[in-house]
Amino acid sequence: MTDLHAIEPHLASDPEQADALIDLSNVVRDTGIGGSHARSLDRLGLVVDALARRTGDRNVMVYALADRSLRHSVHEYPGRLEPALLTGWVRAGLVEELSDADERLLDLAEMLGLPVVSRDGFADFRLTHPWIQGNTTQFLAPAPTRVRAVKLVERDMGTRSPAQISRKLEESDLKAHGLLAGRNRKPMTEVVRRYWRCPERGCTLYDSRKGSAVLLPRMRRGVPVCELHRTPLTDDGPRTGITQLKLLVDGVCVQRFTLDADSTVLLGREPGPGGISLYGHVPPDRLRPISRAHLSIRVSAHAVDLRNLGGNGTLLLSNGAGRPTPLADQDYVRLHVGDTAELTDGVHLTRSGRRFPAEIAAAWRGRHKHQSPPKSASARTVLGPNPADNQ
Ligand SMILES: [Zn+2]
Repeated sequence: MTDLHAIEPHLASDPEQADALIDLSNVVRDTGIGGSHARSLDRLGLVVDALARRTGDRNVMVYALADRSLRHSVHEYPGRLEPALLTGWVRAGLVEELSDADERLLDLAEMLGLPVVSRDGFADFRLTHPWIQGNTTQFLAPAPTRVRAVKLVERDMGTRSPAQISRKLEESDLKAHGLLAGRNRKPMTEVVRRYWRCPERGCTLYDSRKGSAVLLPRMRRGVPVCELHRTPLTDDGPRTGITQLKLLVDGVCVQRFTLDADSTVLLGREPGPGGISLYGHVPPDRLRPISRAHLSIRVSAHAVDLRNLGGNGTLLLSNGAGRPTPLADQDYVRLHVGDTAELTDGVHLTRSGRRFPAEIAAAWRGRHKHQSPPKSASARTVLGPNPADNQ
């Protein structure tokens, strides 16, 4: 991607619409890719291209967060256009700018389960975000391939010992803040599984009864607060887990469907009340081979399963597998992130990189089963004599 203006359509104004989170300050200053300038927006373009290849979606969406200082040092950019463009994106709400973006970035990553593109080790945040310890799946590093192309490589975040963590904290001014947050912090997975209500009269930002999408609370020192009023939110009951599916036509995402956990829905040309109709999203000539009810989609707290109902069948291409296999008519088959279901030529269903809240906890259980006891346990001793109280 050489045209910087081509990046803009990939910038989501809402993290819920994104396929990945971008640590923009880190990517823009990553001299390992995209030329030798100290800062370059072209690197964001290269990362977006790599994500498009990775997800199979040419319209892949990213949510970018930047430190305020990224727009400074204008002379470090190849030209004046770049910081001006960045300023425009910040003003348009396409880049979220904070004095220090890391904490918000990690909060979002934990809440949404979205991958994070960054080379940062986030050493200062191992106490407040113990889920980073030993993580080998959620952080992606850009790496150069051929000239001017980039691929994304899963990073092994490793574990930092309590000594390393406290040394790093002493080096930074985050020490008091980090320890405070570590003690009072509500686990993000717990926050995201509840509805919240702002105690200010007339504030409906988080009102689950207004019908539309509900904002995720902003975290401040481990406490969910109202974005507008900055007051701590009150617990408003359990929230249904969700999952997000993407409908791709010729490799372009044309629609995202958000489904509640513990539900089964039909998807097809015209599946009837409560179903997901492809009419209007898929061109008429492609709709013809698709049955009225083509797929049954079963969403549970931990997984998405598919069963073929279509007369012409459905193909499932598993992530990394060479050739697709026909989906069974009788049994449900799991659709993992990275898998693709083909309804007909050029019409695909995938899961967004976003895992639903309940699945974040499940993923942790799964990892712990396969690995030796979490080395992060050693880090937890820093938190206090009874880590369970903090978790
Ligand atoms: Zn409020």
